Amino acid sequence: MVVKVERLDEVAVVTIDNPPVNSLNRAVRKRLWEIVGECDGDPAVRAVVLVGAGKLFVGGADITEFDRPVEPPLLPDLIARIETAAKPWIAAVRGAALGGGLEVALGCRFRVATAGARFALPEVNLGIIPGSGGTQRLPRLVGVATAVAVAAENASLDIVKATENGLVDRLVEEPLIDAAVAFAREALTRPLPEPVSARPIAAVDPAVLEEASTRIARTARMGQAPARVLEAIRYGIDEGFEAGMALERATFLELRASTEAAALRYLFFAERAALKPADLRGVEPLSLSRTGVVGGGTMGVGIAAALRNAGIAVRLVERDEPSLQRGMSALSAIFESAQRRGRLSAEEREARMAGVTGHVGYEALADCDLVIEAVFEDLDVKRAVFAELGSVCRPDAVLATNTSYIDPRQIAEGLPQPERFIGLHFFSPAQVMKLLEIVPTPETRQNVLATAVDLARRLSKMPVRSGICDGFIGNRIMRRYRADAEAMLREGVPLRDIDAAMRGFGYGMGPFEVQDLAGLDISFLHREAARARGEMIPDTPGDLLVRAGRKGQKTGGGWYDYETGDRTPKDSAEAARVIAPMVGPQRTMSSEAIVDRLLAAMAAEGQAILEEDIAASAADIDLVEVHGYGFPPRRGGPMFHAARQTK
Ligand code: NAD
Repeated sequence: MVVKVERLDEVAVVTIDNPPVNSLNRAVRKRLWEIVGECDGDPAVRAVVLVGAGKLFVGGADITEFDRPVEPPLLPDLIARIETAAKPWIAAVRGAALGGGLEVALGCRFRVATAGARFALPEVNLGIIPGSGGTQRLPRLVGVATAVAVAAENASLDIVKATENGLVDRLVEEPLIDAAVAFAREALTRPLPEPVSARPIAAVDPAVLEEASTRIARTARMGQAPARVLEAIRYGIDEGFEAGMALERATFLELRASTEAAALRYLFFAERAALKPADLRGVEPLSLSRTGVVGGGTMGVGIAAALRNAGIAVRLVERDEPSLQRGMSALSAIFESAQRRGRLSAEEREARMAGVTGHVGYEALADCDLVIEAVFEDLDVKRAVFAELGSVCRPDAVLATNTSYIDPRQIAEGLPQPERFIGLHFFSPAQVMKLLEIVPTPETRQNVLATAVDLARRLSKMPVRSGICDGFIGNRIMRRYRADAEAMLREGVPLRDIDAAMRGFGYGMGPFEVQDLAGLDISFLHREAARARGEMIPDTPGDLLVRAGRKGQKTGGGWYDYETGDRTPKDSAEAARVIAPMVGPQRTMSSEAIVDRLLAAMAAEGQAILEEDIAASAADIDLVEVHGYGFPPRRGGPMFHAARQTK
């Protein structure tokens, strides 16, 4: 039974027990529908307490039902039935009331909750809007400004805020059911408040809505859902509850059927699967409390910051004192900037740094559970590091490399216990970027793999497993993307048009703008090294720019020119002159054609990656692009996009 009813004298206690998150699937809705009738018809019942079994109230709708037509009883109808029931319903919330769960609670006459409770309407993350009164009842209960923050901008309300603004009538203690029943008995001695839908909306300063509208317009990456939430809230204010409900429902159904929502749902399931890989079920990760990072450059410092943000102790090893000092200052600067931006308190910043020690020499790593190497991208340098780690570290310590391109099998050659070795490919800046490519060698043990996935989870990162190839999944697709962008440029398509087309598709920056930001020299040096090994790699326009000293923003210009302190790209006559020998006569190409070509290139490379078993699934490739390379989530990813195009 997904819903149970118990009687405690005149109070019926209704428990939703639908693991794992008590989602409101059809069976739950149907049973609740019947229970409303049963309680109304039973003269011995005077009030109903609604509670979720386990750790949370209700996690939301059942997303797996979203790809099918809606089946009655519909949630808005069920909530209306609860709201107009002859006996008052009291939502008793422990843990979270999310999405449809919060909407059900809003349909109850009262809400009580325990200390850890949290309330949110995360629908916009899935490209939809609340579809069961969230946009209409919430503003009536907590005011328009808070409702906009919660429903359109993904804010969640903790118990303190929820009690202050009237969402929660009483903060209660465990045992929750006893407390809720006591509350119900007390409530029965007084006249009942009006149902939420019948309450007026407190007057709102139009500026509040205008400001929200401006903020929302800037977050185009979330797709159209946030703006549509705002529209539904506004409509309810102007036209009343019933009209607001009708618009909300129509919008919900429209968005639910959109490609954008399908893409976000797809990513939701892909993320869940990546965080709990099926083949590692039952494999215990090793416990990690002391970690080491070797190399305190761009990546080492970012990785150390990510570890500290997760509360993990770090020992940072550099090759000499000046490099160590540079690394420690860079680390400190990351936390200082977080404090300036209000993300950390002074105490938190101090605690972050207190958990890191800096060292020259490897002895400090002797008792580490995990060591991540992030030294120069050079096989000999890396091998020398692992020779040291092999002799100093515990034999069961996990040893990882952050290499971008070098074959991890070569790095691990000669390492004692190679089964504890793994590639952990972080992305820059490592304390920010969500993606973590996990690159096992054929020898890597399952529990080391499970440890890597567990680490990603602790660092709030998205783990994606990659096989071994040049550039792994992400950089390999990136190279193809850039190569095709450069090919178009050489065919005479203006680079500004290419960048603008990709921004129009939803990227924050176009391919040439990104290169200017990251620096053109990295991939240039990679190509030069291959040329030095005798590989025949023809010059690219980017190579011409680097040779002319144009490495990107850091040198004042690359593909574009930049004024000091300003990241706005300006057309560059100088760059045009440098690359002219490789560029054909100017021609125009529509944005659509540019986008199609570059996405097709990415999908083709992705297909090759799948066929070579470098990625386990198309969804993994899409996760890499979305979490590591700025692919707009509402488009799902290059593989999702390509599959939709051919449908
Ligand atoms: P970096 O040049 O900024 O830093 C390397 C650091 O390693 C330097 O501070 C250097 O002093 C130190 N070092 C060199 N030899 C050492 C040794 N024997 N012992 C201790 N420290 C030593 O380089 P980076 O950009 O941080 O890259 C580091 C690694 O991460 C490379 O393998 C690179 O391919 C990879 N990576 C880089 C990026 C990126 O965007 N920069 C992204 C992912 C992975």
